[in-house]
Amino acid sequence: MHICYIDESGTSDIPGNTSHFILAGIAIPIHCWPLYDKEIASIKKKYNLDGIEIHTGWLLKKYLEQVKIPNFDKLSHMQRRSEVIKYRTTHLLSLQKKNSSSYKQTKKNYKQTDCYIHLTYAERVKFIAEIARAVGNWQDARLFAECIDKTFFDCGLATQSIDEQAFEQIISRFQQCLNLFSKQNASSHMYRGLIIHDNNQTVAKKHTELMRAFHAKGTLWTKIDNIIETPLFVDSDLTSMIQIADLCAYSLRRYLENNENELFSHIFRRADRKDGKVVGVRHFSKHSCRCTICSLHR
Ligand SMILES: [Zn+2]
Repeated sequence: MHICYIDESGTSDIPGNTSHFILAGIAIPIHCWPLYDKEIASIKKKYNLDGIEIHTGWLLKKYLEQVKIPNFDKLSHMQRRSEVIKYRTTHLLSLQKKNSSSYKQTKKNYKQTDCYIHLTYAERVKFIAEIARAVGNWQDARLFAECIDKTFFDCGLATQSIDEQAFEQIISRFQQCLNLFSKQNASSHMYRGLIIHDNNQTVAKKHTELMRAFHAKGTLWTKIDNIIETPLFVDSDLTSMIQIADLCAYSLRRYLENNENELFSHIFRRADRKDGKVVGVRHFSKHSCRCTICSLHR
């Protein structure tokens, strides 16, 4: 049995504030789960992040107040935390006094990053890279992803929404991978898969209905025989593997939008391949695209 953890990066809205929408799934066989989960936990521990959610987007932002605190990198974790909290409290009070419109947003941003303020920017970058490298070494994990360039997506011609296309692609590729595993297995034991998705009210309803339809009629590409159940939805702050799916989706988007290669190069090693060709990850973009994903997908 394989569990495929799914999360997204960027927005499927058009135009939205990102050029790409990514839906990524990281599938792992259940017997590997304890080992992989332990590995993530031990890296978190090294950075004093035990039990803390890895939210890649927030972790990799620059926190301005850290730059303003003198000798920030020389302070202990506890001192850093205390200095940042002092700075943030003063800042929020002054915004409140000025009745500033940015008060609410700033408060929200501070809350999202509160668990990470004891680490310098360089340490946070190192932490995420370490996690990505570990995932890249997970021999039994498979990465599936649909990366949609929204400037290429033709809403007038498309029969599905961006989100539906992405979900159908992931399900089809996960199914084909499980089918191939089953065929390769001498004991004719059937490989089963289960989808676990980051909790999101609107997506939950839509993907549950889509999955029911796939079970009944298949996708455009394949029958769905090996994936059981409709997706299960979990809170990302409680489930490490969903955080890994978030990291994968983020890394793919940053590679395609900003040509950032480091995280991508680690996680892309796990892209599902067949006869040397990457079949698990697709960049839905112009035919002339020369990115690594397109080059290895053709
Ligand atoms: Zn491409």
